Amino acid sequence: MTDSQSAAHALTPAHTLAHQVRTAARSAASITDDALARIARGNPPINALTQVFADHARARASHIDALVAAGQDPGPLAGVPFAVKENICTTFGLTTCASRMLEHYRSPFDATVITRLLAAGAVPIAKANCDEFAMGGSTENSIFGPTRNPHDHTRVAGGSSGGSAAAVAAGLVPFALGTDTGGSIRQPASHCGCVGLKPTYGRVSRYGLVAYASSLDQCGPLTTSVCDAALIAAVLCGPDEHDATCSPAPSPDLLTRLEEPPEGLMFGIPRQLLHPPAGTATGNSPGVTHALALAIKKLEAAGAHVKPIDLPASDHAIAAYYLVATAEASSNLARFDGVRFGHRAELSPGATLAELYRRSRTEGFSPEVQRRIMLGTYALSSGYYDAYYLRALKVRRLVKADFDAAFAQGCTAVLMPNAPGPAFRLGEKTSDPLSMYLQDVYTVGVNLAGLPAISVPFAHEIGPDGTGLPIGLQLVGPAMGEAMLLRAARVLEKLA
Ligand code: GLN
Repeated sequence: MTDSQSAAHALTPAHTLAHQVRTAARSAASITDDALARIARGNPPINALTQVFADHARARASHIDALVAAGQDPGPLAGVPFAVKENICTTFGLTTCASRMLEHYRSPFDATVITRLLAAGAVPIAKANCDEFAMGGSTENSIFGPTRNPHDHTRVAGGSSGGSAAAVAAGLVPFALGTDTGGSIRQPASHCGCVGLKPTYGRVSRYGLVAYASSLDQCGPLTTSVCDAALIAAVLCGPDEHDATCSPAPSPDLLTRLEEPPEGLMFGIPRQLLHPPAGTATGNSPGVTHALALAIKKLEAAGAHVKPIDLPASDHAIAAYYLVATAEASSNLARFDGVRFGHRAELSPGATLAELYRRSRTEGFSPEVQRRIMLGTYALSSGYYDAYYLRALKVRRLVKADFDAAFAQGCTAVLMPNAPGPAFRLGEKTSDPLSMYLQDVYTVGVNLAGLPAISVPFAHEIGPDGTGLPIGLQLVGPAMGEAMLLRAARVLEKLA
């Protein structure tokens, strides 16, 4: 790692910035200018941000400063700049999903998560790179080109919210929004060295998230600390009349118990990670194995309990996930036909409507997205529905039952890796989709079960050249258990 590649010169956390603005100790305008300068300097080498809204951000910041001057409440995130993943609808800028299909798409409305953040006083400053339609684990499959890991520019940032994670880790913005269908918040957070929270399915409105797989997608924050994740999640959570799958439960109190000590917390560790069967490797890198062992030791020393648990159905989680996710994607992406939505191919006169659909979708979607549409369409086709899609739904139920059993046995959270290793090299897995999919082994089960989970930076993988790549550990909590999950994450963060 060279100096120019070293990540984040310490960035003031979101909660401190908001406090400064609310108490008029610092203006939102100066924070915005600072963020714009950081972006101008720090973004080109890593390609994390795709569009920057300097004028829009400055106008929002002056509005916040005017509220403070007038003695009005500017909101809990007053003046805090943030970046938004390219698949979240915003009325400012374009919402491209990093796809040629939506290259010129301007949303007529803001996603609910954006409306909430604006009402809380936050300042959207940029859009962030991602894998096309959030399909991928490396942010290499994007019309904007790949995002690079701020800790080592030859490596991926993870994905699909790699731009969001890299922007936070490089100190360009104090937080960013990502989406997580099968790990896309937690895995890039782990690879870049920041915190990433995927809330319970239904905790945060999906209105205005361009759907990948509707029964799995959730939006959440990527931050520099657990405290900021709690602060921002508290703003994002809560019912929304625009999303019928969003829980009517009010936004929980995520901050009051955050600093409580580890005593009484019980961490479940999947048994196969603790005692890999003789003669087999878990497939984890030495750094990941070491991080897990170290975390267990430190948690016990700090007074928490650790307990082996069983997640037998997890062995089938990847297979079930790639059937459910692609089935839903094939249906969700049917709307992009060049007529109702999306890129329209130029055809010679006399071409048929079928030809228009075919050419538009062939030109608009990358091979990876096309592969998933075909896989999902196949899984849903009448002859194969029972064998694939229906069976995947049964596995999904078993995966959830395993987690539920662990929580019923008293676990506060399940502790496990986010990925088998640290960030891999750019191009290393692009020609082998299956090896890319297998990276999701620790994250997809959580989405199938609809549970909340968080990635916390914990250790580094030391390479042969002595450089260190961040490794995050994942905590999974019971449904709607964000408050306890964040408390457990704060414990882990302090032990890192
Ligand atoms: N890597 C997973 C996939 O490609 C997860 C993506 C996501 O969470 N959006 O499907």
